[in-house]
Amino acid sequence: MFPDRQAERREMVEAQLRRNGIRAERVLRVMENIPREEFVPPESRFLAYRDDPIAIGCGQTISQPYMTALMTELLELTGNEDVLEVGAGSGYHAAVLGALSATVVTMELEPVLAKLARESLARTGRDENILVVEGDGSLGYPKFAPYDAISVAAGAPEVPAALLDQLKDPGRLVIPVGARAGQELRVIWKRHGRIESRTATACRFVPLRGEEGWR
Ligand code: SAH
Repeated sequence: MFPDRQAERREMVEAQLRRNGIRAERVLRVMENIPREEFVPPESRFLAYRDDPIAIGCGQTISQPYMTALMTELLELTGNEDVLEVGAGSGYHAAVLGALSATVVTMELEPVLAKLARESLARTGRDENILVVEGDGSLGYPKFAPYDAISVAAGAPEVPAALLDQLKDPGRLVIPVGARAGQELRVIWKRHGRIESRTATACRFVPLRGEEGWR
C-alpha cells in the first residue's frame, strides 16, 4: 500500500534511537513499522526519516524521532493503558502511543492539524483506538479521565494542574516545562497519593498555548 521505506526506518531505529540510548524494544519495534512519511506534508516526505523535526503547517512541527521515542519510552506502556496526548500535531506520536496502549485521546488546538492528523491515522489504519479531539489540551479532557499516562508535546510554563488531576494513581506524565525558548523534559509519577518528578533531558518544543499554557 505504501512505498516501502522499511530500510530507512530500520536505519532510523539503529542510528538515531538505539545508538542514542533508547532501549525499550517495544518502542523500537513500533517505530520501525509506522510509516512516518504518511504524517508529514507530501512535499516533505523525503525528509521523513531524518534526525530532525519537520514543519507540518500552522507554525508547528512533528518532533524529531528521538524525542518521540524517548517520551514514549519514559511512559513505560505495557499495552493496557488509557493515554492522553496533548498536541496531536501530525498524529504520528499518537500512532506510536496507540500501538503500545489500549486507548489514546489526543488533543489539538489547530483545527487544520486535527483534521490532517485524523486523516493520516485513518489512512494508515491506526485510528481504531485513537480519538483526535479539537480543543485546549492544557485543560486535559475530563470526559475520559483519569488516564494511566499523559504525554504533552508542547512546552508548558508550569505543569498544568488539570493534567495532574486527570492522572490516575498510579500514573505517569511526561511534559516539557520551562521557558518559551527551552525546557526540561520532566517525568512525573503519581503514586500512593504523592507526586514525584525528575528531569530526563533538556529539550525545545513549540509553546503549549491555551488556558494553562502560554497566553
Ligand atoms: N506530537 C506531535 C507533535 C506536536 S507539536 C507529532 O507527533 O506530530 C505540538 C502541537 O501542540 C502543535 O500541533 C500545537 O498546535 C499543539 N498545541 C499547542 N498548545 C495546545 C493546547 N493547549 N492544546 C492542544 N494542542 C496544543
